[in-house]
Amino acid sequence: MATVFLVGAGPGDPGLLTLRAKEIIEQCDVMIYDYLANRDFLKWCKPECEILYVGKKGGDHTLPQDKINELIIEKARSGRSICRLKGGDPYVFGRGGEEAEELVEAGIDFEVVPGITAGVAAPAYAGIPVTHRDHTTSVCFITGHEDPTKEKSGHNWEVYGKSTSTLVFYMGVKNLPMIADNLMNNGRAGDTPVALVRWGTRCTQESMLSTLENVAADAAERGFKAPSIIIVGGVCSLHDKLNWFEKKPLLGKGVVVTRAREQASGLVATLRGHGACVHEFPTISVEHLDDYNEVETAILQLARYQWLVFTSVNGVKFFWEQLAEIGLDSRILGGLQVAAIGPATADALRDRGINPDFIPEKYVAEHVVEGLLKLGIQGQSVLIPRALKAREVLPDALREAGCDVHVLPVYETRLAKSDVDEVREAMNKGEIGYVTFTSSSTVHNFFKLLPAEELKQHPEVKIASIGPITTKTVHEYGFTVDVEPEDYTIPGLVAELLKAAK
Ligand code: SAH
Repeated sequence: MATVFLVGAGPGDPGLLTLRAKEIIEQCDVMIYDYLANRDFLKWCKPECEILYVGKKGGDHTLPQDKINELIIEKARSGRSICRLKGGDPYVFGRGGEEAEELVEAGIDFEVVPGITAGVAAPAYAGIPVTHRDHTTSVCFITGHEDPTKEKSGHNWEVYGKSTSTLVFYMGVKNLPMIADNLMNNGRAGDTPVALVRWGTRCTQESMLSTLENVAADAAERGFKAPSIIIVGGVCSLHDKLNWFEKKPLLGKGVVVTRAREQASGLVATLRGHGACVHEFPTISVEHLDDYNEVETAILQLARYQWLVFTSVNGVKFFWEQLAEIGLDSRILGGLQVAAIGPATADALRDRGINPDFIPEKYVAEHVVEGLLKLGIQGQSVLIPRALKAREVLPDALREAGCDVHVLPVYETRLAKSDVDEVREAMNKGEIGYVTFTSSSTVHNFFKLLPAEELKQHPEVKIASIGPITTKTVHEYGFTVDVEPEDYTIPGLVAELLKAAK
């Protein structure tokens, strides 16, 4: 019989998932996950993994706990390995203990993967260390939502009221007035600092600082809702001083990334690192050609060329893939000069042991030609491995300079089959600040997936473009560009977004 893994998904920031948890998500046959487990992690499941949502939001259980237990046992009996994924830590107000007991009774093996609990992480991301030698010697985790069917409360308000512990309440927003009153009635001073942190560690994190006597009214006025952690105690006074996360320049800003999925990871990670809520919406999919005969012939005749010019990372990737297909490697390029159109393409070449002979200062075709002419490319034979459909500016200009140019398609780009609903919904909720375009084809394809008319209904959505050619394409659809870097690179685009956010 298979094992059930009770796995903590952490508080939401994908970086706060443990390595062990990721391993299990990647390997499991059945995934049973909760409302508070970040859905982003599901992308790591195997394609054949059965994914089941048993979420709980407030008191509204999609599936009651006894049915969840039955489901876990039934799936485990089918001999498959189960990942039971829960927000935070499975044993901290996660009912993981109850599930484990059921498993023992059913004679099913289980393992526990602890997670980072929201009660420690959300405060940390709001500038609040739950212990601090100047303020307290202990911390206490408390449920703010006791099982209503319980006859006698397990809370000892007298002890909480008298203690100097930091008190961390889970599931407590609705009961905030009751919590505050009970603490004050039992001795905690009305001016004790209290903090609330909602959706802690996520790009949508919000926090507020108050005092025991005012917090109920303040939270109601701000409309502060679940899921929130409530922290009571002197440590909350450090919030203003240590509040690092909420200072991130793009925190909460919705940014749509339209690059091909394979190429988007760097941009996505950097934007997330600056706090943005990134919506991955690939508009391009990069695909193999049906036929590589022409590529094979060109590779076997490489000695005919003096220059090899790469215009994209994909050009490099697919060219080397074909080299390997016919049993060759970088050594075959020994006699050639190699150019890269931009820094990322240059890095892709260096990864394959080729230090480019030429990288232009500005990353558009026109400047590449200028630079190559200075290196005396006139009259020479040039091979350009690239996408099937691409702009002809570079080959044409080189031909004009008397070069013998051979454009060699090594891959093609197609319209990605992306689901537009997620972006549409976020846009309708006013959650999108920027759409980013990193090439003209991302623009064309974006408007194939989401009609330009629809975007026009949202003047609040700004457009960021990587450079003038892409910008021109944006103009063709009747939009203005709000952000464009001077150096036409992804890092440049991010830097410009940060400037605009200030
Ligand atoms: N096992 C979870 C807690 C589940 S109880 C853990 O260890 O974190 C659900 C409560 O956890 C919510 O009502 C809220 O109080 C808290 N919570 C979970 N994730 C949170 C987050 N990202 N930010 C703030 N509170 C969170």
